[in-house]
Parts: sequence; C-alpha cells; structure tokens
Amino acid sequence: MARIDLNVPFAQKDDAKRLGARWDGDRKVWYVPDGVNPGAFGRWLPALPDINVRASNYFIAQSETHCWKCRELTQVFGFILPSGHEALEPDDEEDDRDVWYRHDEPTILNYVTELLPAVANRIKTMTRHYRVDFSKTTGSSYWMNHCEACGMKQGDFELFCEPDGAFFPMDEQAASQIVLQTFSEPFGGCADTSYGDHLFDSMRRT
Ligand SMILES: [Zn+2]
Repeated sequence: MARIDLNVPFAQKDDAKRLGARWDGDRKVWYVPDGVNPGAFGRWLPALPDINVRASNYFIAQSETHCWKCRELTQVFGFILPSGHEALEPDDEEDDRDVWYRHDEPTILNYVTELLPAVANRIKTMTRHYRVDFSKTTGSSYWMNHCEACGMKQGDFELFCEPDGAFFPMDEQAASQIVLQTFSEPFGGCADTSYGDHLFDSMRRT
C-alpha cells in the first residue's frame, strides 16, 4: 500500500506527532507510518476526489484522430465503464439528495474532472498527452487529450460528442478502430456519462 501523506499545518505538528505521524525531512511532509491506523489522522488526510461515477473495473479506450491544428494523426484516450457501474443521480423521491444508481449498459465518459489517484496513475503510464487542462470552450478544466505532434488540446466535444468523432463511431468499421484495455480494479471519477448505442461489441479488446 502507498504511504499516506498528511496535510498538517505547522501549528498542529505536535498533535500529529503525538498521534504517531512521522516526519519525512527530505520531502518536508508528515505521513502515517506502516502499521498505524490512519483513522486518527482524519482531519489531515488529503481530500479524496469528489466522484459521481464508480465501477469495480473499467476500460481505457484508445483511438486516433487527426489533430485539428497540425493535421497529424495522434493517439487519443478515454474511459468506458462496463454494465453494472454506478452513477450518482438525484433520488426519484427526494430530489434534494443523490443516490447511487446501477446501470445495466456500458457508458463512455467525457469531461472527466476527477479520477481516483490509482486510475490517474494508470493512464499516466499509457500516455503523457492525457492530462488536466483548461478549456476556453467550457470555461473549466478537465482531463484532456493533446496532440502528440504539436501539443495542441483535443477537446472532448469533437472526440466524444460529434458523430464520427474518435469515440463516437457511427458504424462497426469505425468502432473497430477503438481498442479497449481492461483494468480489473476499481474506478472512481467525476465525469459526464453517455448512454446509447456506442457499438461497444465492435470495439477491439486487447
Ligand atoms: Zn497537432
């Protein structure tokens, strides 16, 4: 298990020490040593990402597109959650609270704003061109593809929301250009979901 680093304000360092936290002098950070229950350190634990979609496993989808700027062919990436994933949605009865709904069809995610650290690390091992960046179109930041040749942002609208976009196949031939890699580990993120016939069965599994 990864070491848990803490956000301890200087004024509270003695409290953290008394509870068993250790100081890493190289990285200048307090952490929970192995074998110590992190429960006591709740107020200093790093904030977990706000998630609205989760699954016990997931796919990273890979496709290609021509960069709108330099026209070079570039790899692009996205996330697909299998049937059985859950999404946080308003309760039918009390709409001021959200509940987790199980979905029996897969979804393709877009405008991903948060990822569990383990998932973020996964995709970072596959590409360095998929990372959080600011979009002038949406006025917000999200996990975005970038051209491998010129570095230009490749926004989610063109890739995921426009018919014939890299992740919006209109026929089986187009869907077969999308390669799916399965990860049998939990997914959590904050993103928009998209349902409908995405021709998942025609996408290639590695
Ligand atoms: Zn380019």
